[in-house]
Amino acid sequence: MKCRQVIVCGKLFDGRHDELFEHMEIGIEDSVITEVGKNLSRAGGTSVIDLSHLTVTPGMIDAHVHSDIFTWKRVWDIVTRSSTWCCLGHLHTAQRCLERGFTTIRCHALGDQGYGAVDVKKAIDAGYFHGARMIVACHMLGTIGSHADYSQIFSENPRLSELAQGAVIGTGADFFRAAVRREVKYGSDFIKLFMSGGFSTPNDGPEDQQLSDEEAEAIISTAKRLGKPTTAHVYAPPLMQKLIKLGITGMEHGAMMDEETAAMFEKTDTYLVPTFCPYNEIINLDEENLAKKPPFFQKKLRQYAERLKSGRQIIAKSKIRLGYGTDFVAVHECYESWYEYQSWIRAGMDPFRVLRAATSVNARILEADEKIGIIEPGKLADISGWSRDLLNDEDALRECGFVMKGGTVYPTYKPNESEGG
Ligand SMILES: [Zn+2]
Repeated sequence: MKCRQVIVCGKLFDGRHDELFEHMEIGIEDSVITEVGKNLSRAGGTSVIDLSHLTVTPGMIDAHVHSDIFTWKRVWDIVTRSSTWCCLGHLHTAQRCLERGFTTIRCHALGDQGYGAVDVKKAIDAGYFHGARMIVACHMLGTIGSHADYSQIFSENPRLSELAQGAVIGTGADFFRAAVRREVKYGSDFIKLFMSGGFSTPNDGPEDQQLSDEEAEAIISTAKRLGKPTTAHVYAPPLMQKLIKLGITGMEHGAMMDEETAAMFEKTDTYLVPTFCPYNEIINLDEENLAKKPPFFQKKLRQYAERLKSGRQIIAKSKIRLGYGTDFVAVHECYESWYEYQSWIRAGMDPFRVLRAATSVNARILEADEKIGIIEPGKLADISGWSRDLLNDEDALRECGFVMKGGTVYPTYKPNESEGG
């Protein structure tokens, strides 16, 4: 017999319309939404979940999570600790995200754990553990010494550094074609490539072109032939323009966006996951939190401060298809996805644009829009409830009052719970 539940919503954001609907109810049978409307039937053994004190939304989606890290204070665990430890990090992050109302996360594994992210995803899907749904890229495809090559922290000891270098760090189009084929063979859902350097690694810069044109083309075209989407870590406009011309599916960061490149994104409907919050310390000149970062990291942020500020404004004003993602490597924990909401609101963006980004837009970016991201009949019952005012409170996603994934209700995080060390 089917298990039938009815959720009574205070207000309802359905993931699609820029509106909060009143007096709505959601009917669920087993794991799937069957009805959305007013005064739904309570026939038979229907159980009623009263969320009349909450604003109900689709389960939130974070499109940029480095889930293999337990804590930002020990980012380098991805090269100094075992692959098992990093896989447990995936599980820890997936559980903490779910408890905070994020029912799906797109995982960009930083360390080389083989294809362990796929195992964690499958174990959650099979119900052995609670946790957010995972859409995974098992590796970061990048060149030797690049932002993807975390063994660069051992560069003063080349022998040790060579040992720590991941399996998909290399050189040449053929190397990367093989890497993509292996990612697909062993279960990655999308392909992540590192076109440029970054801020959080010591020996590279955000304007460096790291993959050659030929290497980037090899990755993108091989993935396309195998039916997998591609996304790139990238900052500088010339590199973003190259990637659009190569037919990439989307991009991450894009933090030095200019008007010309934004227009190319709009024209080609290329998505961008801008990950605003990791740069807040420099944009807001938050010296206390800047001081927590390593000196090389602070130096690069200060050097690019003005371009990061103007880039954010250009992204906020653009009509680029923006996805919601956090990318914590610096100050916040990788499951504190609510911070990104605050950053978008402070950049002057409409709350409904943020809410759509974290639900229906992200569902499409994850190529999961047939199942999640919108509250309507036929979709999985991934549903979150929020006690704060979603339209007028920049910290609205900080307190999750209810979370359901696939028709099952899970406990939510209580702020006074300790997080371990
Ligand atoms: Zn990242």
